[in-house]
Amino acid sequence: MTEARVALADAAAGELRRSVAGDVVLRADPAYDSARRCFNALVDRRPAVIVRCLGPEDVATAFDFARSHELEVAVRGGGHNPAGHCVLDAGLVIDLSRMREIEVDASTRIARSGGGATWLDFDSATQELGLVTPGGVVGSTGVAGLTFGGGIGHLTALHGLTCDNLAGAELVTPDGRVVRAGPDGDDELLWALRGGGGNFGVATWLEFRLHPLERVVGGRLTYAGAGVRDALRRFRDVVARAPRELGCQAVLALDETTTPVLVIFPCFTGAGAGSPELGALRSLPGLVEDAVRELSFVEQQSLFDDAYGVERHYWKGHFVRELPDELTDVLLERVAAIGRPPGGILIESLHGAPKDVDRESAALGYREAAFNVSAMATWRDASLDDLYVAWARETVTAIEPWSLGGGYANYMSPDEPLERVRAAFGPEAFERLRMLKGRYDPGNVLRRNQNIPPPAA
Ligand SMILES: Cc1cc2nc3c(=O)[nH]c(=O)nc-3n(C[C@H](O)[C@H](O)[C@H](O)COP(=O)(O)OP(=O)(O)OC[C@H]3O[C@@H](n4cnc5c(N)ncnc54)[C@H](O)[C@@H]3O)c2cc1C
Repeated sequence: MTEARVALADAAAGELRRSVAGDVVLRADPAYDSARRCFNALVDRRPAVIVRCLGPEDVATAFDFARSHELEVAVRGGGHNPAGHCVLDAGLVIDLSRMREIEVDASTRIARSGGGATWLDFDSATQELGLVTPGGVVGSTGVAGLTFGGGIGHLTALHGLTCDNLAGAELVTPDGRVVRAGPDGDDELLWALRGGGGNFGVATWLEFRLHPLERVVGGRLTYAGAGVRDALRRFRDVVARAPRELGCQAVLALDETTTPVLVIFPCFTGAGAGSPELGALRSLPGLVEDAVRELSFVEQQSLFDDAYGVERHYWKGHFVRELPDELTDVLLERVAAIGRPPGGILIESLHGAPKDVDRESAALGYREAAFNVSAMATWRDASLDDLYVAWARETVTAIEPWSLGGGYANYMSPDEPLERVRAAFGPEAFERLRMLKGRYDPGNVLRRNQNIPPPAA
């Protein structure tokens, strides 16, 4: 049945090609393999049709074609979602990778981002004018996908989550309507897009509030061996009292010799060379490399960059209310349990600005969390799939006693049950999201995501 649909879609693709301004990629096309590739090499799916759209009309045409040929739909921005939601077998991909324009208005301090832009596109354009919005830490991640799931990065402490800086968006709904989220459109839709993911339509434009930022004091601090245990505890204590000018993320991992390492990625945005808290991090015992220096923000944004589509990923985590000594010891035991690099545990601090935001302004929950703690299983050898997936699952079970009850939707793997998605928002916000889903996508066409099912008809 599926292959029959693929054949029918192939046969009808000539008509689709004539109807869109962008391009249509089919299985026989040379561009097919690179167009279906996503960041996570664990995901290897073969869509029937990929429509690389150039505007809202193309998106509406793609939805129409999918409906008439009974093809399931996936939406692709930067292709980073660890669950691989941007690609599917025997269906249609609405690919936004050709819609990457960024328009910056320095006078209103608003940037407009195309629906398929990446953070490198965004930061490069806004930094030309000394402006910024808090985004993700890897350049090839999609602006829209990251924003709609929340958005944690180097500037979270200073300016909040990415979705807190989303001022409006233009979406095409599965029935082809163009709708606007925000004060000059549907405010409830803007609330939903701040955390509720790609459930309501395909965004062709997003608008962000900008803030001035010229440079940072950032880079890496690496601690290794016996000092890691203390360094992790001191990191927690320092971050708890850190000013919002000091963003801090940390990764616990093993080096090539399987020695535990803690890598802290500070990002100081205040005046001068740093704060006393940054000084404290730079003088902890166990420090083996201090690569902290003055950087442009675009340089800071490249610290984490990894090769696209090379490694296999399976991520899972919890927002935790605190990071007591008992939990830091659990994290050290769990990182040792991987037994080999790569992979590790990501610890993202949520101090500062995320706590200031009116909770009613966004669907996203868990602002009260101290940290987002995620098991990031990352490997290359397919024969290790079961081992790494089991490691991530066991790690998350070990963290669970300190969980606020839910995890971060942007890092969810494909096997997360509906309950975990619901828990990411809390029951009330989840029901409100479902009502909105019923208005914008009653048929749940957009279900290849951390899905919010519409109310039963
Ligand atoms: C290497 C790496 C680094 C990351 N770094 C961070 C980080 O620093 N901070 C953070 O918070 N998260 C981070 N993430 C997680 C990331 O935010 C999410 O996985 C997000 O979904 C990726 O968006 P994308 O557009 O790149 O992905 P895609 O896989 O292309 O899209 C994911 C989903 O987003 C939705 N979507 C994408 N574009 C649109 C659109 N235009 N309109 C409507 N829906 C859309 C769709 O539902 C789609 O299925 C990272 C992920 C990876 C793999």
